[in-house]
Amino acid sequence: MNSPLFPLQDQLKGFSRALFTTWLYHKRFNILFDCGEGVATSLQNRVFGIRRIFLSHGHADHIAGLVNLLNIRNLGAGDQTAPLQIYYPYDNKLLEYMIDYLTKTQKDLSFPLVWVPLEPGETLRLEDQKGYIYIKTFETKHSQRQLSLGYNIVETRRRLKPEYVNLKQSELNQIIWEKGKDEIAEDYQKIIFSYGGDSRPICPDDIKNSLYLCHEATYLSKEDDERNFQQHSFLEEVLVNANEASVETLLLMHTSLRYSLQEIYDGINELKNKHNLSYKILLLFGDIFIDTDVPLMTKKKHPNQDKIQKN
Ligand SMILES: [Zn+2]
Repeated sequence: MNSPLFPLQDQLKGFSRALFTTWLYHKRFNILFDCGEGVATSLQNRVFGIRRIFLSHGHADHIAGLVNLLNIRNLGAGDQTAPLQIYYPYDNKLLEYMIDYLTKTQKDLSFPLVWVPLEPGETLRLEDQKGYIYIKTFETKHSQRQLSLGYNIVETRRRLKPEYVNLKQSELNQIIWEKGKDEIAEDYQKIIFSYGGDSRPICPDDIKNSLYLCHEATYLSKEDDERNFQQHSFLEEVLVNANEASVETLLLMHTSLRYSLQEIYDGINELKNKHNLSYKILLLFGDIFIDTDVPLMTKKKHPNQDKIQKN
């Protein structure tokens, strides 16, 4: 079922199920995106490795894990002094209630904790021993009353200037010899990872050419949004949107409990053919990362499959 080779598999750990919990830990950057219930229970002492948390919005399934996580970071067996920064959408009332509760109940933390409100369009430079990256925020369409944010991890990369791409190596060497390396190369910004929380489809311009987009797909079809919340996305619009944004890999998450793994897998592959999609599509189903190019082993069901009741 799982291909060991698919991109970022060894860098990510997470759990996602609509309404219950969503979180995704990016080990390479020590960043946790959202903090739904069960983060500390699942990561155990690895929670001490988290340096920054980026929250997309204040709904319970994205923040309920904060209480336990802070408690474990304060009392558990690990580096209890490691600082933690939590970033969240500015002026989000639900999050402000949570911050107030945590401030009142976790007064004597052993580590520095900083809450940082963010607005859409902000850029943060994050440095560690391995170098630096930027986090860029963008607004997502979710709750009407509260600001919700998505996050891009952006890397500065170097490439040949367009006027030199067709030259032979020997010609390039000659220019470098005469004018130096900087004559032929330029820096550019590359989105290497995008996280959108749950929302309506993210604007393609905000995630253009992303190497790895994490996007919700709560419903398999529009009709399944019976209560017409219009806060979530359905599969086909997400796939078409990701294609328009020219992403390299799409990780679908936040699917509704009503669908079996087989139903979601079949739905994705049907639409892949219908729209002739060539980018890689992965699915985070509970805590399992599934490569949708690899056949599902139907006989060997995931052990949790039978326990999941359809709602
Ligand atoms: Zn939500």
